[in-house]
Amino acid sequence: MSEVAKKETQQPTPPTSDRKGNGVAMSQSMTTMHRLRLNPNTEHKPENYEGLQLEFSPLLFSSLERYLPPPMLSLSRDSKLHYMRDIILRYSPEGERTRAQRQREYRQKITTHYQPLHKELYTMNASNFFVPSFLKAINENKEESFRRIMTEPSQGIFTFEMLQPHFCELLLSETMLDKLMEDFIRPISKVFFSDVGGSTLDSHHGFVVEYGIDRDVELGFHVDDSEVTLNVCLGKEFTGGDLFFRGVRCDKHVNTETHKDEVLDYSHVPGRAVLHCGRHRHGARATTTGNRVNLLLWCRSSVFRELRKYQKDLSSWCGECQREKKERQRVSIATSKRELLKKEGKAVT
Ligand SMILES: [Zn+2]
Repeated sequence: MSEVAKKETQQPTPPTSDRKGNGVAMSQSMTTMHRLRLNPNTEHKPENYEGLQLEFSPLLFSSLERYLPPPMLSLSRDSKLHYMRDIILRYSPEGERTRAQRQREYRQKITTHYQPLHKELYTMNASNFFVPSFLKAINENKEESFRRIMTEPSQGIFTFEMLQPHFCELLLSETMLDKLMEDFIRPISKVFFSDVGGSTLDSHHGFVVEYGIDRDVELGFHVDDSEVTLNVCLGKEFTGGDLFFRGVRCDKHVNTETHKDEVLDYSHVPGRAVLHCGRHRHGARATTTGNRVNLLLWCRSSVFRELRKYQKDLSSWCGECQREKKERQRVSIATSKRELLKKEGKAVT
């Protein structure tokens, strides 16, 4: 097994979060078809699209505005809105277009009498981004609801259908990533990763990585600088690029052997998410053909990090610490058993 690098150097350098990196780009098809900018104009302050009756998220329009060709930026909000809406509708598959129009009419009808239960979800227009099964589980917010949509191919690694494939690539803005962590990842992590700070996630680092020919080839074996990591495949056509997992480890045990039951190889499926503890050792194999785009969200808990400084014995989640503890118990039981037998032996003679 290859060595896992020391903590300071173990993180693969993520592409810059300002999305100028090689691996980060707006949807290729969108940029060529509609001549949007390849990289967002980070200087530009987009308009506020909240409060309008739109069939797509206001955040989506704000995010997309940064990609408009420069001469368009000085136009009125309505003109920009019209242009972007056109792009989104053209980008949507045929069925989705009419669905979006129907949804708009429906929304106008209901907004007058209907107060949504989850306001955040509503403003994010979540049904455009997430698959119904995922939204249902989040809304129910119960362990059994989460379990119903998840598979756990190896202990502590959860995979589930998450994103609508045709909207995958538009999930870009920071505000959306904030919401993604707060409204979606935190409730799930509270249930499945509470021992590694999953119930107190309070910051994140999100980035999009594109793999393929001339792109980032392969991510070495590493652990993430996160408590919980979300890794969603945003798609495109590809082969290879499997993720491999090799057990959860604390700092002290990061380079220890992998045990058979810790080995998992996972093949990405567009729209499907993998959620795992940041300390779960993993790597990505080379994407052999095509291009693969993944969204990574490293979720962190400052409370958990603070606690770890003071409580050294907080690594019950480390596979090796668990084994050591079991071994100590086995030895201690064997010793007392021997002593007991010795005493009994004495009593008999
Ligand atoms: Zn350990």
